[in-house]
Amino acid sequence: MKGVYRQLQNFMSVHEGCGPNAVAVDAVPPPSPEGYNLSACCDCGATFQRWVSAEDARHDMIFTTLLVSWN
Ligand SMILES: [Zn+2]
Repeated sequence: MKGVYRQLQNFMSVHEGCGPNAVAVDAVPPPSPEGYNLSACCDCGATFQRWVSAEDARHDMIFTTLLVSWN
């Protein structure tokens, strides 16, 4: 599945109006090298969950950088 980063961006833009830093993003470290579970939730109760395979993670390398900057 491609475009996970784009989907997350979309989720965040949809919930931009919910408040500053309303959306919290978390990436669970993989128990195996196959990928990781990405989740985000908003103060309004909306959630975003995607499985990111290792291959997708390579494509979305910029996303990892973004996660680090958010922490
Ligand atoms: Zn929201």
